[in-house]
Amino acid sequence: METTLRGVGVSHGVAIGEVRHMGTAVLEPPAKQIPEEEATREQGRARQAVEAVAADLIARGSLAGGEAQAVLEAQALMAQDPELMADVERRVTVGSTAERAVYDAFAAYRALLAGAGDYLAGRVADLDDVRNRIVARLLGVPMPGVPDSDEPYVLVARDLAPADTALLDPALVLGFVTEEGGPTSHSAILARALGVPAVVALPGAGEIAEGTVVAVDGSTGEIVIDPDEATRAELARAAEERKAALAATSGPGATSDGHTVPLLANVGGPADVAAAVEAGAEGVGLFRTEFLFLDDSAKAPSQEKQAAAYRQVLEAFPEGRVVVRVLDAGADKPLDFLTPGDEPNPALGVRGLRTLLDHPEVLRTQLLALAEAAEGLPVHLEVMAPMVADRTDARAFADACREAGLRAKFGAMVEIPSAALRARSILQEVEFLSLGTNDLAQYAFAADRQVGAVARLQDPWQPALLDLVAASAQAARAEGKSCGVCGEAASDPLLACVLTGLGVTSLSMGAASIPYVRAALGRHTLAQCERAAVAARAADTADEARLAARAVLSGE
Ligand code: PEP
Ligand code: MG
Repeated sequence: METTLRGVGVSHGVAIGEVRHMGTAVLEPPAKQIPEEEATREQGRARQAVEAVAADLIARGSLAGGEAQAVLEAQALMAQDPELMADVERRVTVGSTAERAVYDAFAAYRALLAGAGDYLAGRVADLDDVRNRIVARLLGVPMPGVPDSDEPYVLVARDLAPADTALLDPALVLGFVTEEGGPTSHSAILARALGVPAVVALPGAGEIAEGTVVAVDGSTGEIVIDPDEATRAELARAAEERKAALAATSGPGATSDGHTVPLLANVGGPADVAAAVEAGAEGVGLFRTEFLFLDDSAKAPSQEKQAAAYRQVLEAFPEGRVVVRVLDAGADKPLDFLTPGDEPNPALGVRGLRTLLDHPEVLRTQLLALAEAAEGLPVHLEVMAPMVADRTDARAFADACREAGLRAKFGAMVEIPSAALRARSILQEVEFLSLGTNDLAQYAFAADRQVGAVARLQDPWQPALLDLVAASAQAARAEGKSCGVCGEAASDPLLACVLTGLGVTSLSMGAASIPYVRAALGRHTLAQCERAAVAARAADTADEARLAARAVLSGE
């Protein structure tokens, strides 16, 4: 029988497929004692699990080929290391269960590797992955991390961290469903970047059985479990119709009376550029450079490596605008070598620009890499800092850019309410503003963007958030400077019209949303957008604001 569940739709489209759960981090198996007579059986279980994991890694390697094959085969060798196995067996003999023995033996080996110089220390993550696989198999729980599947699937997770998502194969993930997270969580952002339908903040998602067929409607936020043929056909037809209508739109973003609003793409690196170009992005409005830093949590990538990645993005938009955000580490994007591990409240601690001002060498290397990457290109490079709180922050960032000899426009992200309230003062130091509405909502409403239970407050239609957007846009207009939106608010077609009516000068979003926003803008005049903005701000709740704007825009 069909059942329908409802969450928050965050990335348009419909996906129908089997559920695969994202395995959670391996739990530490309890350290219970087993009777002596069970030792032989436990040793057998451990050996079997090790062999099965090694065989699986080898099989995957031969499917993947290339560099991945070498890595997977090396992992299979780690699993079968005779000394490790001997240690596991010894631990079982003195009373450990197979899973606990594997866990402890790997921990001892890990400590050795971690202390053995750069190269071997770099293998620790691979070793952890092998251990997790063996322990998960012994406990009979799903493999931790991204599901092992050769067939396309709908990924169900509690939430997705950037480090997990970097490993996803876009060819296999049909759509996402998460139990936690709001419209601005990383799962939502990633889903939009991949252009796959997604629903977040869905209570009970974790209970949907592995292998169940679900239909995910990322526009309505509905999940149909075990959809019957008629439902599948209806959903697929509606999605096709929407796609065909959108494919008909092209060209620069503008209202129907010709008020231009450049439509820019949010990218995480060179891999996202092709989709942005294909969607007709007029440039990049937010290059989230922290994704380049995730490969190695022990140190920053070299200037050379960074410059090569930046150049690939800059070259894709030879005449366009590319807004690069300097590293935004901390809080939900911690980096071992930069983020203090002992903060009681990381979202309110040293993150974003604060981290960079504490580590000026990291900021300088990044700015030098950007200068190197832009050398000789006609691109309009703009560089902005995340989490600017006040004019002092803005000046410190602009000074660092000047000292690095960067020829670019310098800007500040408005992500903290203080920056929106004092936008004119910040604009004395920088040339543009970009509204990060995800964090702006988080800080305005004291609502953690990773917590599904407070998704209501993360709704970008909240009138208080619209007030902060209006204050920033008005300040920029008064200073004769630009103020874009690069938070997820820009990807909602109806809200994009309201933002335009509030006076924002560009909209930046995941590439897949661009056609939807372009189509919505092209259906309304600037005056209609302005009226919708007034109506939305006059409302008391997010739902009322949405309805009020819709009434204005559809009634005219
Ligand atoms: C934001 O906070 O709105 C933003 C664009 O930055 P991020 O989502 O990367 O924190
Ligand atoms: Mg942010």
